[in-house]
Amino acid sequence: MMTPVVTGPFALGQALAEREQAALLRRRTPVEAASGGRIRVGGRDCLNVSGNDYLGLAGHPAIKAAFAAGVAQYGAGAGASPLVTGYSRAHQQLEETLAEWLGVEAVLLFNCGFSANQAVLKALLGKEHLLWQDRLNHASLQEMGSQLPCKMKRFGHNDMAALERLLEPSRGLIVSEGVFSMDGDQGPWGELSRLAARSGNWLMIDDAHGLGVLGPEGRGTLAAQGVSPGSVHVHMGTFGKALGVAGAFVGGSRELVEYLVNFARHYVYSTHMPPAQACAVTRSIELVRGADEARAHLARLVARFRQGAQALGWQLGASDTPIQPLLVGESSAALQLAERLRGRGVWAGAIRPPTVPVGTARLRITLCAAHGEDDVDRLLEALGPRLADERGGAHAP
Ligand SMILES: *Cc1c(COP(=O)(O)O)cnc(C)c1O
Repeated sequence: MMTPVVTGPFALGQALAEREQAALLRRRTPVEAASGGRIRVGGRDCLNVSGNDYLGLAGHPAIKAAFAAGVAQYGAGAGASPLVTGYSRAHQQLEETLAEWLGVEAVLLFNCGFSANQAVLKALLGKEHLLWQDRLNHASLQEMGSQLPCKMKRFGHNDMAALERLLEPSRGLIVSEGVFSMDGDQGPWGELSRLAARSGNWLMIDDAHGLGVLGPEGRGTLAAQGVSPGSVHVHMGTFGKALGVAGAFVGGSRELVEYLVNFARHYVYSTHMPPAQACAVTRSIELVRGADEARAHLARLVARFRQGAQALGWQLGASDTPIQPLLVGESSAALQLAERLRGRGVWAGAIRPPTVPVGTARLRITLCAAHGEDDVDRLLEALGPRLADERGGAHAP
């Protein structure tokens, strides 16, 4: 390893070298084409079990057509931030569609989920407040939480007894996820809403991975668990996963949305999402609502995969969603496993710290409604029986 030459105030080379040595360096691979559970990389077609396009909608002709029609009507971009002239009829229609679908009073659109989460926390929480978060919440929530003047308390993953011990009456916001992005398990929303109501605190759900995938009409984790949308004060979801497009929203009361329009800096000071994109998402929601059969098919694929992987000796997470982590423990073991699968025409992502806790590196397998049962069988065949060296250090998340 070369000793990095010090050339300025930032030790970039050293940070990169350290990451590389720990098998944690990230590199990007340009994708040539991806749709319907397939991916082409380096001129090679692979089975894609690494994306978040759970319903296979990213390449749907009706969504592409809606996007194109939106470009024809509104142009390529919004041209301004929403409080100037960037807010269009297309945005308004998407907000109304979302509010009706999810059973909330009002909705606000954001360019991405990362900024939506950061905007909400920053706009709501002052130094007099408390923020309670699940330890496995998304980086956008953890990071903003630790930068704010409020006090942040993290509770063990889905540990409601721990949360209850940390709660103080009417002091702030509890945030958790519908479906955890790296583990695929669900938050206990009935219990979360009871604890929030009893303690007089607000509750926020990040349902990036539940929206479109779970519940009747794909309304998400709350609908799947029979929890009333009214018992959760802040709803956040994204359009880049099951909905197959890009962008995000925050929903809740009319008062919350009006407050965010005035105080959410990521909203006020950012060019609005292209109106054409809003047209595409509105069309996608129509398809998602009618996709109960695709969701049932996806659930059958998940069951088939779990049964097969367990029979081969792999350690799975406690997940009944399309996110199925194979826990291998060490980062190098996760990389080797991903490499082996690629050699067999299957594209799966190795997930390493700091994205997941140290010692819980994993292969994050995701299934998609565009896959068939034969694809699941091909994946299982490529995995093969778990080898002894993939056992070290693994433990349940
Ligand atoms: C993907 C994701 C986000 C970020 O959403 P983007 O629209 O991709 O920025 C936020 N929260 C969770 C749980 C996610 O998985």
